[in-house]
Amino acid sequence: MEISQLLPLGDGLELTHLERGDTYLRLSITSTSRSCFCPVCGQPATRLHSRYRRVVKDLPWAGKPVQLILHVRKFFCDTPACVRKVFVERLPQLVAPWAQMTTRLCETIAAIGLATCGRLGARLTSRLGVATSWMTVVRRVMALPSKPVEHVSCLGIDDFSFRRGRTFGTVLVDLETHRAIDLLPDRQAETAMTWMQAHPEITHVSRDRGSEYASAASRGAPQAVQVADRFHVAKNLSEAVADLLARVLTELRAASEEETAATTAPGEVRTVVEEWRPAPGEHVKRTISKHRAEREARYHSVED
Ligand SMILES: [Zn+2]
Repeated sequence: MEISQLLPLGDGLELTHLERGDTYLRLSITSTSRSCFCPVCGQPATRLHSRYRRVVKDLPWAGKPVQLILHVRKFFCDTPACVRKVFVERLPQLVAPWAQMTTRLCETIAAIGLATCGRLGARLTSRLGVATSWMTVVRRVMALPSKPVEHVSCLGIDDFSFRRGRTFGTVLVDLETHRAIDLLPDRQAETAMTWMQAHPEITHVSRDRGSEYASAASRGAPQAVQVADRFHVAKNLSEAVADLLARVLTELRAASEEETAATTAPGEVRTVVEEWRPAPGEHVKRTISKHRAEREARYHSVED
């Protein structure tokens, strides 16, 4: 079996040379098709303009990074009406225009990024023979096409920050699938309202306590029931309980002081209930003094 048959390149491409180093593989690929289609007018072109060399990274081979040296061509487009006179040969089955890595390598990095994250993905790819940065992993994930929002009944809406404490946007979540379905560039009521108007199927909107999203839901999805989300219900509850406890504690202290003043004889010292503590037993005192001695010994040993 020839080595060119081992490497899936697609029609019109041929492996012409293989160079093996200690830490890399370098493969020379030449385009052999006689004609090429103009990317603007779509007509075939055969008149050669020039040749040039393009270097892209490919999937590793046996743990070694692979570099493809692509020998591709430029063609004249002879279609009179076409605005493009010269164009570069495209290799859609192997690499996107202007890309620095093959499509299959891009897909692999994106899959690793989806399964891990930026920094963890970069560490994993380096073990697999793909030298890349965490930013590239993130870029590959961000470049994936997002699924269009089709149907959402229960919508969750809240703000999030693009830059912590500075720039805010809006995140929209499908509460039935628990997936973020869209991001809006700001947290204005108008923007969220426009989005909701395009989704008349919304039946429930779960939102925070702010007036912006309340206004957006009232105008953008008037048919929907608005509810406070779990986080804000818990926040409301904890704040109300804290207020209540603070008020009750103040009243209890005031009542206790009044009672103490009324029942204490002149010159008598009374112990306030809150200040009373049982006297520690002998064993507790010994344990405390033992721990203190150990701490002091440790402190002196560190000092020395
Ligand atoms: Zn053309």
